[in-house]
Amino acid sequence: MDESRSRHHRVVIIGGGTAGLTVAARLAKAKVDDVAVVEPSEKHYYQPLWTLVGGGLASAGSTVRPTASVMPRGVSWVRDAAVGVDPEERTVLLDSGNELTYDYLVVAPGIQLDWAEVEGLEESLGKGKVSSNYRFDLAPRTWDGIRGMRSGTALFTMPPGAIKCAGAPQKIAYLACDYWQRNGVLGRIRVILALPGAVLFGVPEFARPLERVIERYGIEVRYQTELSAIDGGAGKATLKNLADPGAPVESLDFDFAHVVPPQSAPEWVKASPLADRANPAGYVEVDRYTMAHVRWPNIFSLGDAGSTPNSKTGAAVRKQAPVVVANLLAAMRGEQPVKFYNGYASCPLVTSHNRCIMAEFDYVPKPTPTFPVLNMQKERYDMYLVKRYGLPFMYWNFMLKGLA
Ligand SMILES: Cc1cc2nc3c(=O)[nH]c(=O)nc-3n(C[C@H](O)[C@H](O)[C@H](O)COP(=O)(O)OP(=O)(O)OC[C@H]3O[C@@H](n4cnc5c(N)ncnc54)[C@H](O)[C@@H]3O)c2cc1C
Repeated sequence: MDESRSRHHRVVIIGGGTAGLTVAARLAKAKVDDVAVVEPSEKHYYQPLWTLVGGGLASAGSTVRPTASVMPRGVSWVRDAAVGVDPEERTVLLDSGNELTYDYLVVAPGIQLDWAEVEGLEESLGKGKVSSNYRFDLAPRTWDGIRGMRSGTALFTMPPGAIKCAGAPQKIAYLACDYWQRNGVLGRIRVILALPGAVLFGVPEFARPLERVIERYGIEVRYQTELSAIDGGAGKATLKNLADPGAPVESLDFDFAHVVPPQSAPEWVKASPLADRANPAGYVEVDRYTMAHVRWPNIFSLGDAGSTPNSKTGAAVRKQAPVVVANLLAAMRGEQPVKFYNGYASCPLVTSHNRCIMAEFDYVPKPTPTFPVLNMQKERYDMYLVKRYGLPFMYWNFMLKGLA
């Protein structure tokens, strides 16, 4: 390789999203010099608000800022995309053909949205009847679809496998029902929520209050069901029974559908030596407690691209980042890991325009409330305010600055 096309950095971070920038800010605060963030996007998004954008409770514009404005001071921004990693040569290959060498690597490129896995989905997106809060440009379309509906059938789907914010597929169903109820049309709308699992939510303490929400809105829940095909123009969906693969598929006519795509590690991560070979989703194989790679102790991963079996959320990143940084600094000193991640994640389950069940839990999974004196197993107004205003403020002003 021509030397001008190769640069060395003490720490290279792949991805300048929630995880990459939180780690970069903490390393900068710890006075680690020569940190580079590889990030192709000029825009940085606060994705947790996209559910509220789809529910008509926040503007899309309030969820995006220029990447330049959130890049921590003293950190080099490499405006390129990683396409491969050679962990033996300590090299990151870039889309431009350049490469970076590193002493320590943090892999945080997020998760890949596999729209093409559902037949007809890519062609259906944004075409009147089909939307998804999983894309910035489509979240406002979700709101258009919800507020334009007065009768008919509304379908909300969740794919099998790990996804980011596993609560998001049902939260938007609750916001839609709340809006329709307040406008007196809920009784004329058949609402179907198709879930891949056998339960509403993986933590029983939070599943119980959610069951009451389902009952209140009269939602038909289809458990162990997957959307296998969709035709947005015709308003037809094909639902597959996951419990009995031999059962005939169900064809359903709908007037509005909110679809969440299947998700997996970015293709280049899956194909790299860093991937977890035991899992076809191909996430970066790290120790679930230390966040260090199981084969290369100078490599760490966190956020949606990591293999840790927590719920993939920004809230999890908030607890993972200090662990990654402490253990990376320990590795620099030639020491063993000093800090351990317990699987903490949080899912603010918004159930109406002013109520939220703040689900916080760990690997067990057992509830791990930040405010143990409050009853978190019920819908709360204060937690709605935390979700709508508190968390975004904390994100932009503290988390991205390495202060939370
Ligand atoms: C609709 C929705 C609702 C959500 N709700 C919540 C919620 O209520 N609470 C919560 O905590 N979390 C929520 N999340 C999840 C949260 O946004 C993610 O878990 C979090 O952003 C993960 O951080 P990350 O850095 O791993 O990925 P991201 O923040 O997605 O960042 C990945 C970054 O990597 C960059 N990148 C991609 N490929 C490459 C490459 N090849 N090279 C270099 N860079 C690359 C991308 O441009 C991006 O900037 C929600 C997400 C969605 C979509």
